[in-house]
Amino acid sequence: MFGFASPFKYAFEYAREDGGVFRPKRARSRNVDSVDGLAIQIRRIALSQINGIRAKAKCTALRVYIIFVNDGDVNGFACAFRNDPHRHIVAVSRGALSTLQHIFYSAECTDAVRNLLPNFARRSDVEISRFLVASALWWLCYHELAHVFRGHQSFLNSKVKLRAFSSDTPARRRHLCEADADTVAGRMLACEMSRLADIFGNLDGGDASLFLKELAVLATLATHIVFRIFDQSHKDSIVNYPPPPIRSMIVSVQLQEQLSDIAPGTSSFADMLSGIGGAESLAEQLGILPGKYDFHSVVKAWIPTYMDDLARMSTILGDNSPCSKLNRRNEGKFEAFVNDMVEMIFYARF
Ligand SMILES: [Zn+2]
Repeated sequence: MFGFASPFKYAFEYAREDGGVFRPKRARSRNVDSVDGLAIQIRRIALSQINGIRAKAKCTALRVYIIFVNDGDVNGFACAFRNDPHRHIVAVSRGALSTLQHIFYSAECTDAVRNLLPNFARRSDVEISRFLVASALWWLCYHELAHVFRGHQSFLNSKVKLRAFSSDTPARRRHLCEADADTVAGRMLACEMSRLADIFGNLDGGDASLFLKELAVLATLATHIVFRIFDQSHKDSIVNYPPPPIRSMIVSVQLQEQLSDIAPGTSSFADMLSGIGGAESLAEQLGILPGKYDFHSVVKAWIPTYMDDLARMSTILGDNSPCSKLNRRNEGKFEAFVNDMVEMIFYARF
């Protein structure tokens, strides 16, 4: 038998080369500025979202474990248990926690946010850094959760040839799954920003809707930095993932779309683009190697190659999703599917 009693043992298989599972120390859970505290907080929120989605989508058989692995890179992965397609692991690397803390708790980053977003000018360095780290890590968790809830692993393993795709190769499937996960994660992130705006927006008598708009720009900046770091450190990224400008465009569009539902008129796509612009100059300041990409040529090449197939992903993923009832109900209406996911996240709020 290949079963494992504990998700930790299972994850250890994956992480063996890098030193196994990282277990954050409970004693430090209140210190969110420590790696341990951050890990515990992020896991708590992600698990609450998962429980909400499971309940609302009636996928109670689905189990998702959030773990941390001792991998020094900024990384995350999602996988199903080998003998049980209903049990999944979402892993976040310790490197993601420590690197993002290291980067975002710097004067370069807090200054960049203050220059870009007037409402943040009066907030303390540590507050700004926490918002940056949280946005980046939530994005990472949601990207991995999207792999689980959209059934990407089962889709990648299936041998069924797809006539729906203009061409069907394993590399193209993987690339589309990554773009699909970015799309769903962008929407989920917007909900998280809205939750934060509810909590912090009015605290100091400020304008809550302005705060939400600026928080979304801040999230765009933080995720673009993650894409740039990831792209710099992963040789396979050019094949398996859309290039950073496209990933950020996807996230920006989805953030903006979702925010226009939650709080109509508060923000525009141009606001989100200013976040990407801010992140580009910040990346240069931080010494993150320049991308190999020219923005215009990347957009010109990527959109005609992938966009139509990306829009069909709900139909194509179909029964691969552990929440396949949900996919069937929406019959490939991508917007409807994403809205359902988002509604579930709202339901899962605590
Ligand atoms: Zn992924």
